[in-house]
Amino acid sequence: MKPLLLILIYLVAVTLPLILSWVTGGPPRPVLQEIASGLGILAYAMILAEFVLSGRFKSVSNSVGMDVAIWFHQMLARVALVFALLHPFLYGGTPSGGTRPWDPTRALTVTTDFTALASGIAAFALLPALVLFAVHRDKLDYNYETWRLMHGIGAVVIALALLHHAVYAGRYGGHPVMVWVWIILTGIAVASLVYFYLLVPLRARGKPWCVTSVTQLTPRQWEVTVAPQKGGGLRYHAGQFAWLNIGHSAFSLHENPFSIASAPASGPEVTFMIKELGDFTRTIGGITPGTVAYVDGAYGNLSVDGRSEPGVALIAGGIGIAPLIGILRQMRLTGDTRKVRVIYGNRSEEQITCRDELAAEDVTYVLSEPPPGWTGESGMISPTLLDRVFTPEEMRDWVFVMCGPGAMLDMVEDHLIARGAPSDRILSERFQYD
Ligand SMILES: Cc1cc2nc3c(=O)[nH]c(=O)nc-3n(C[C@H](O)[C@H](O)[C@H](O)COP(=O)(O)OP(=O)(O)OC[C@H]3O[C@@H](n4cnc5c(N)ncnc54)[C@H](O)[C@@H]3O)c2cc1C
Repeated sequence: MKPLLLILIYLVAVTLPLILSWVTGGPPRPVLQEIASGLGILAYAMILAEFVLSGRFKSVSNSVGMDVAIWFHQMLARVALVFALLHPFLYGGTPSGGTRPWDPTRALTVTTDFTALASGIAAFALLPALVLFAVHRDKLDYNYETWRLMHGIGAVVIALALLHHAVYAGRYGGHPVMVWVWIILTGIAVASLVYFYLLVPLRARGKPWCVTSVTQLTPRQWEVTVAPQKGGGLRYHAGQFAWLNIGHSAFSLHENPFSIASAPASGPEVTFMIKELGDFTRTIGGITPGTVAYVDGAYGNLSVDGRSEPGVALIAGGIGIAPLIGILRQMRLTGDTRKVRVIYGNRSEEQITCRDELAAEDVTYVLSEPPPGWTGESGMISPTLLDRVFTPEEMRDWVFVMCGPGAMLDMVEDHLIARGAPSDRILSERFQYD
C-alpha cells in the first residue's frame, strides 16, 4: 500500500468517531466543552489506532518500513496522551451532577457519577504510565519480553476502560450509534492483539522450522540457518526481516526481529546474522542444530526488487550488513546486472564478516579503530567519504540501501538529500527504535 494512502486511512479512521459524534450529537454547547469532548474522542480513536501501528501489520510495515511505523506509533502515542490529559480539564465551569433521565447523552451536565467516571480516571492514570514505561524502557531493569507483555496488557486495559468511559460518562458516546462505533473499533483493536499473539502462533505451530546450523562469524556475530519442516517455507524479498523464535513454544513472547541474510533464490532455508547484544542473542552460540524454531514474516520494505535505478549502493554499519548481504546474494544468484557498490563500516577489523564473499565486490571497508598497516578507510562513514565513493550522478540516480546505527543512517540520508537524491531512492532499516 502506498504511504500516502496509509496516512489517509489513518486520518479517516481517527476522525471518523469525531465526525459521527458531531452528526449524532445534540445542539452545540460552549466551545470549550466541545473542544474537551473532541479531544477525548480523538485521543480514544488515536489510542485504538496505536494497536495497528505497533509494527506487526504487514500492510503497514511493508509499505513504510517497520522503523517508520514504530516512529509514528511512538509520536502519535505522545500526541494522544496530551489530548487525553487535557480533555477533562477543559470541562471546567460546566454544571455537574448525576445522571439525568432527560439528558441521556449528558449534553447539559458533566457527570459526577463515580461508577461512570472511575474507568476514565483509571485510563487517565494508566496512559501516562504506559507511555513513560515505553519511553524509558531501556533504563528499567526488566527484560524486553516482560515489558512487551505489560505494554500489551496495559494497552488492552486502557482500551476497555476508555470504552466504558466513553459509553457511560461520555457526552457523545452514550448515543446508541456511538456505543456501537466504539464497541466495533475497540473490538478491532483488541482482536488485532488476539490475532497476532494467539492465531498467528497457532498457525505457526503447524509449520515448525528447525535450526540446521549455527556458525560463529566473528567474536560476537553468529550465523543461524533454519529450514522449514512442513510447508513451503517463507515468501520474502531479499532485505526483509522476520520474527524468529528459537526453542520456545509458538505462543512465547520470546521472539526477536532479525533481517534475513539469505536470498530467496537460494532455496527454502533462511539464514540470519545475529550479533550478541542481550538476553537471547548472547545464547546463540549454545543453540544446537535440530532445535525447533518458528519464523513469522516477512516484514519491512528494504528491497530493491523491481526497481529501475541503474545502480544499487549498499551502506552498512556493523551487523547492519545482514539485510544488505541478503540483497547482494539475491542479485548475484539471479544474474542482476545493476551496478553494486558497498560501503561497510565497523569498529575493528575482526568485526568484518563475509569478507571472502565480498572479495569479488566493489567494497570500501571503513574502520574506526584500524589496526597498524590497514589500507582501507579509517574513521567513520562520513559525507566526505560518500563524496569520494560515489559520483554526483550516482548519488542522484542510484538507489541507496542502508542499515546500521541511527546516527550513521541520519548522516548518510541528510547528505544524499543535500546532493539531490530523492527520498524514495533512500531505503533504510533501523535495528533500534529509540
Ligand atoms: C527490523 C529489525 C531487524 C533486525 N535485524 C537484526 C539482525 O539482522 N541481526 C542482529 O543481530 N540484530 C538485528 N536486530 C536487533 C535485534 O532484534 C536485537 O538485537 C535483539 O532482539 C536483542 O534481543 P536480546 O534478547 O538479545 O536483547 P535484550 O537485552 O532483550 O534487548 C536489547 C534491545 O534489543 C531490542 N529488542 C529486544 N527484543 C526485541 C524484540 N522482541 N523486538 C524488538 N526489539 C527487541 C530492544 O531495543 C532491547 O532494548 C534487528 C532489529 C529490528 C527491529
